[in-house]
Amino acid sequence: MKTEEITKRWLDFFESKGHTVVPSASLVSNDPSIMFTIAGMVPFIPYFLGEQKAPYRRATSIQKCIRTLDIDEVGKTARHGTFFQMAGNFSFGDYFKEKAIPFAWELLTSPLEKGGFGLDPDRLWVTIFETDDESFEIWTKTVGFPAERIQRMGMKDNYWSAGQPGGPAGPDSEIFYDRGPEYGADGGPAADDNRYIEIWNLVFMQYERGEGIGKDDFEIRGELPTKNIDTGLGVERLAMLLQGVENFYETDQVRAVLDKAAELSGKEYGGTEDPADPRNADDVRMRVVSDHIRSSVMLIGDGVTPSNEGRGYVLRRLLRRAIRAMRLLGVERPVVGELVEVSKDAMGGTYPNIAEDFERIRRIAVAEEKSFLRTIASGTARLEESVVAAKSRGESLSGAEAFALHDTYGFPIDLTLEMAEEAGVSVDENGFRALMQEQRTRAKADSLAKKLGGVDVSAYASLREAGETFFTGYTELTSESSVRG
Ligand code: ATP
Ligand code: MG
Ligand code: MG
Ligand code: MG
Repeated sequence: MKTEEITKRWLDFFESKGHTVVPSASLVSNDPSIMFTIAGMVPFIPYFLGEQKAPYRRATSIQKCIRTLDIDEVGKTARHGTFFQMAGNFSFGDYFKEKAIPFAWELLTSPLEKGGFGLDPDRLWVTIFETDDESFEIWTKTVGFPAERIQRMGMKDNYWSAGQPGGPAGPDSEIFYDRGPEYGADGGPAADDNRYIEIWNLVFMQYERGEGIGKDDFEIRGELPTKNIDTGLGVERLAMLLQGVENFYETDQVRAVLDKAAELSGKEYGGTEDPADPRNADDVRMRVVSDHIRSSVMLIGDGVTPSNEGRGYVLRRLLRRAIRAMRLLGVERPVVGELVEVSKDAMGGTYPNIAEDFERIRRIAVAEEKSFLRTIASGTARLEESVVAAKSRGESLSGAEAFALHDTYGFPIDLTLEMAEEAGVSVDENGFRALMQEQRTRAKADSLAKKLGGVDVSAYASLREAGETFFTGYTELTSESSVRG
């Protein structure tokens, strides 16, 4: 079943259950505290909180999502994309658990000829929040699901909250598919996340989050005005199961770019099962290319352009990582133009703006490649020298060296980190950051001194600086502490 057919069935099913079909919002959310739309619920937050009255009590959508938090998983797990589509159904003070759970069951297990997804009920597993007896009852009594395939877990796994105090929160119940013993150990979702693939999260959104950190260490401030439902199913994850492929990257909307990466590099994808075989690393690279190119196309399509901060920096990093992966596959000539074209062909049917706006998308992607290839050309030899020297001394690459690469060659720190790591050398990142900070302090003092007619006021500048936080790059750019368990 093609991805487009999955989304059509989803929307038809929930429409038949009285839900209003709401088009996907942009990847770039209106909320400045959220860098990207990371889940189907993001556009509906004001309705959950009761800040705005929802124009419908039941809604369904296929929402475009970007999760930068998952970038490092891409290509290595079977199930994580940076860009993916989340199918959702939502209730704003209308139905609650008693309907949300049976809806999910019906859609997943109804036969294909009846409009369902025809999953084998014996392969499904369920998790619930440890104290949520209500959900346990609905699963076992209303649905008839076997109690021995329900696992209870704590806040980290079965509780969702929007990262900041004041956001909606609630316990959830997740549905997993057992791919079979060849994928991992027995024991259900608690034991193995590669064999038991998480496909659908049903969140019972009924509380307001209070103070606290992260996913599992926060207080509950009180109840929301209404009890709501927020669910999210990974469209590509279901596609991977229904298409009988091994992972996210082999599904119909992603695979074409992977094949193009294989063709361009002359490497065979999936050529070996032996983990020691270096071609396995090549498989990861091809998967990274397929995801990052698609994600970049979708981001540019929603108006993001490469830059050194915020959303633009995420895009820059995605494109550069794809280019790096192609180089590690042995392709040094520019290929981004060809890769984005293939992705456009795969995505343009579902997202017509990608096809219509493609010349602009390609132009932006190719310009980024050009500038990155220039950077690589100038800095790689120097980096390699430093790495070899550090290795022979048995030391890590110094902060000063990383700083010089940045300052003289425009070599970004993440590239230094990645390339050094590949060579088995660590980098004194704190040393690098301290030097960056010093440089900024100096620059500020200089410009202040100029204004004040050459008086040395650097001491004041460093005082002012002391209160500022340092830029920590992509890892802390988003409010993705909100991502569910
Ligand atoms: P996982 O534990 O596998 O990382 P999650 O618990 O972070 O998933 P949720 O926040 O519960 O995911 O999101 C709801 C659904 O969206 C998931 O059940 C999954 O099907 C899908 N999903 C989440 N993250 C991704 C991703 N990076 N790529 C593809 N699908 C995803
Ligand atoms: Mg989840
Ligand atoms: Mg999870
Ligand atoms: Mg996750």
